[in-house]
Amino acid sequence: MERENPGLTVTILGSGTCVPSLQRGSCSVLMQTGAAHLLFDSGPGTMRRLLEAGTTIFDLNYLCYSHFHPDHSAELVPLIFATKYPDDTRRQSPLKILGGRGLTDFFAGLKAVYGPWIELAPGLLKFVEFDNTTRDRKKFSGFSIETAPVEHNPESVAYRITSADGSSVVYSGDTDFSENLIELATDTDLLICESAMPDSLQVKGHLTPSMAGDIATRAGARKLVLTHFYPDCENVDITRECRKTYSGPLLLAEDLMELKVIR
Ligand SMILES: [Zn+2]
Ligand SMILES: [Zn+2]
Repeated sequence: MERENPGLTVTILGSGTCVPSLQRGSCSVLMQTGAAHLLFDSGPGTMRRLLEAGTTIFDLNYLCYSHFHPDHSAELVPLIFATKYPDDTRRQSPLKILGGRGLTDFFAGLKAVYGPWIELAPGLLKFVEFDNTTRDRKKFSGFSIETAPVEHNPESVAYRITSADGSSVVYSGDTDFSENLIELATDTDLLICESAMPDSLQVKGHLTPSMAGDIATRAGARKLVLTHFYPDCENVDITRECRKTYSGPLLLAEDLMELKVIR
């Protein structure tokens, strides 16, 4: 199995935001490398899109959170609750939950509300915190993950996953312009970057198409996928705005879009 997928397979599960949309689910990206299934963020509706992508919650090994805004994290509770149905013996291997510092406090808060409804059998839920004040790096079986703090929330991190064959994908999470993101994304094969609002409607804590393009160009990213589109983006030529600053391969994310990254 591991030899069959030495690179990375990326499926955009949700290319949207907190705003309800039939076309765009809330933020979530599925990545597969070797036998590992990683979910980056899980906004509302993620489990349904996951099924549409042919994956179940029991296939997931890692949940990686960029930050804790509900449009990125809200499906965590239903996902763990669903893992208990009909009993929690169906999950055989631990579900590892990754995030910036504050992750365990965040989960403790959820547990204060939901208690045993979001508890699994001992050892089946594990938490890994990355330093959100500086670059951090951890190795896992068959891949590694690097993080860097980005400009959005105190806990916010962007992720760089590198597979066994050296392929890499960077996931920005939510961020304003970020030198850290440029460094993290240096020479990456694929940068999945938020582009929440059109150039003319830039808001603090988020990027626009031309800002995302600028980051991709400075990083030397080999391919750019823009995502996290608020409804204001739908009536604007996002590609044209991004082309002001970036001339490389460019895609606008759509739900269930699949990309393969291989060396
Ligand atoms: Zn956010
Ligand atoms: Zn967001």
